Parts: sequence; structure tokens; C-alpha cells
Amino acid sequence: MRIAVPAETDPGETRVAATPETVRKFLALEAQISVQRHAGREAGFPDDEFEAAGATIAPDAATACSGADLILKVRRPSLTDLAAFRPGALVVAIMDPYGHEAAIEAMARAGVDAFAMELMPRITRAQAMDVLSSQANLAGYRAVIDAAAEYGRALPMMMTAAGTVPAARIFIMGVGVAGLQAIATARRLGAIVTATDVRPATKEQVESLGAKFIAVEDEEFRQAETAGGYAKEMSSEYQAKQAALVAAHIAKQDIVVTTALIPGRPAPRLISAEMVRAMRPGSVIVDLAVERGGNCELSAAGEKIIAGNGVSIVGYSNVTRLAATASSLYARNLYAFVETLIDKETRTLAPKWDDELVRATLLTREGAVVHPNFQAANPQSIPAA
Ligand code: NAD
Repeated sequence: MRIAVPAETDPGETRVAATPETVRKFLALEAQISVQRHAGREAGFPDDEFEAAGATIAPDAATACSGADLILKVRRPSLTDLAAFRPGALVVAIMDPYGHEAAIEAMARAGVDAFAMELMPRITRAQAMDVLSSQANLAGYRAVIDAAAEYGRALPMMMTAAGTVPAARIFIMGVGVAGLQAIATARRLGAIVTATDVRPATKEQVESLGAKFIAVEDEEFRQAETAGGYAKEMSSEYQAKQAALVAAHIAKQDIVVTTALIPGRPAPRLISAEMVRAMRPGSVIVDLAVERGGNCELSAAGEKIIAGNGVSIVGYSNVTRLAATASSLYARNLYAFVETLIDKETRTLAPKWDDELVRATLLTREGAVVHPNFQAANPQSIPAA
């Protein structure tokens, strides 16, 4: 069983799909591992650590992937990446499949069996493979650290000889994994924290972390959670009520962190330019939904924008700025999944094609797009909730 870890080719990507720790674990399963030179450099894992763990360092992607049965990546392979993979190889990555059907087709044409880690079902057996949780948790933490660094005032209340400094007010919008970690981090830093979500289950979670819950709690709110635990897209009437509530609240906040997402849909727009104008100069917005279109009208992916009234709007890709921790957790998620694809007797890759985890994550197989959500006849479909 030959495993390859090519370097990521997306210029903004600093993470790596394996660490010396997971290399050792794969070797214990009698795999051979080839890591492309400098693949882990930006994540703080130099080549000599991979070598010491037992990997071979390859000079380029083609050499690393030559003859590989399994390719581990962070992001979906580009066409150039695919040229180095052999047909029939398994490729496991965060595939970002929604809205990228052509790129999935390209993987099918390249003949690889592609697995999308973010489609892993959120069931007990797959918890250790949940990349959305491992990465969102870090993103939520980092969003508050970024906001604190950007904000020109202190976060905790301080009683000093020169007088009292008030605690900062932080508002978290969207209370999934990232939002909960953002609340916890903001509380640890001494801020006064409020939070909102459309799923009623979050109210108790917010309160248990010592923050105050704010939401339009009408009948639609009571029905907003899908069976899968995700949010539904809300009606325009609900959105209008939510906007009115948010507008009044946001004007009094120092920092707003937005994390709201709906699977398979663009991120809901929660903060308009007008709401930003109502905030005090020096306030900070961190938009974690920026890669899915953003929760704030003014945010831009990878950028910090200063609005006309002096409000900073930060749209950085957070996990890539915590590359060492993010890679460690991601690599463990991958190992936990790949282990289920290996026959322990023969020590070879032998995916069980009817396994629940395989069926949920497999996008392409034997030259075809096989995932029902991404087949050409059904391009607009969204995940079963
Ligand atoms: P997500 O990233 O899909 O969305 C983030 C949050 O945004 C969600 O809480 C969602 O309700 C909220 N949101 C959507 N539209 C909104 C709007 N208009 N206004 C305000 N908020 C809005 O969510 P996630 O972090 O992936 O978590 C989704 C669910 O999965 C949660 O129920 C979580 O507890 C659950 N989960 C389960 C497991 C497991 O069982 N293994 C692991 C992690 C998360």
C-alpha cells in the first residue's frame, strides 16, 4: 500500500494532510509513504521530521504520487495535481464540492476515486473523522484572537488606579462548532458575550457557556433545525425580523464574529452595509463565512477592509493561520477514516463500497461521478438533512 502526500498547490493553503505522527501510524499498517519536499514546511513540519518518522521525501508531486494507491490532500486536487495521480488511486481531501461540479467531473475523468471528508456523517462512529468540527473549532478560536488583536481596546473589564476600563461587548452570530468555541474564547478573555442562531437547541448551549442568547423565537425558529442538526434557509419574513433585531443589537457591539452557514447554500447575509455604518468607529467584524459568500455584505475573502466609519471587517482564512494545530487535527481525522478503508489482514486498501461512511463521502469512482448530490442530472441538489 503506497500513500502519497503531495504539497498543497493552492497559494493560500498552509496546512498539510499528514504529520510525522500519522506517518508513524500508517507505517505501523505496513504502508509506504512518500511526502513531497516542503509539503509540511508552512505547517511547522520540516522534511527531516517526516523522514525521521519513516517517510520518503520526494522532490516533486509527480515523484511523490507515482504509483500511489492513496493520495492524502487538504484541498481538492487541481487539474495539474490530477495529472500526477494514477487512475484508480483513492484521493481523500476537503473537496468543497457544492458549486464545483465541473471540478468533480474532472476527478472522475482522471479516473480517481475521490472522497470528500466534509460529507462525513456526524454519527458517533465517525466523530474522530469530522473535519468540519476539528477545523471549525480552531477557526472559532482564532476569530476571537484576530478580533482582539484588531480591536484598539482591552477586552476584559479592568479596575486600575487610573479608572475603570469597561469590558468589550462581543456578539457571535451562528452557534455551531465555530460559534461555540468563539463564545468560550471570548468569555475566557473577559468580554460580555451575546450570541444568536436560528436553531432553538443553541439557546441552552449559549447560556451554558455564560453568554446571553438573542433571537427571533417565533414558530419558524422552533422548526428551523433539520433532522441532521443543521439550519434551514429561513423565509424572507423571518430574515426581515432577524435583521431588525440584529440591527438594534449590533450598533451597541464592539466586536461581531459571524459563523452562520447553511449546507449546500450560500452563507446567509446577516450584516448589511447599513448595519456596519451604525457601529462605532474602532469596532471589529470577523466574518468566518467569507469563503461561502460571507455573512457581512462588506467582507472579502482573505482581506481586511476598513469601512468608511472606521469599522474593521476581517475576512481571513483562519485555519490556515493555525496551520500546525489545524494540520495535526486534520491529519488525525484522515488517519481515522483511512484506517476504515484498509483490510487489516492483507494490509491493502479495500474500501467497503456499501459502508455508510464510504457512501456518504465518495464523489467519484471508476470514471464516473457517483455521489447523488453531484450527478449531472441533479446538480442543484443539497445534502439530505
Ligand atoms: P454550520 O457550520 O453548518 O453552521 C454554523 C451555524 O450557523 C449553525 O449553528 C447554524 O444553525 C447557524 N445559522 C445558519 N443560518 C443562520 C442564520 N440565518 N442566522 C443565525 N445562525 C444561522 O454548523 P456546524 O458547526 O457544522 O454544526 C451543525 C450541527 O452539527 C450542530 O447541530 C452541531 O451540534 C452538530 N454537530 C454534531 C457533531 C456530531 O454529532 N458528531 C459534531 C459537530 C457538530
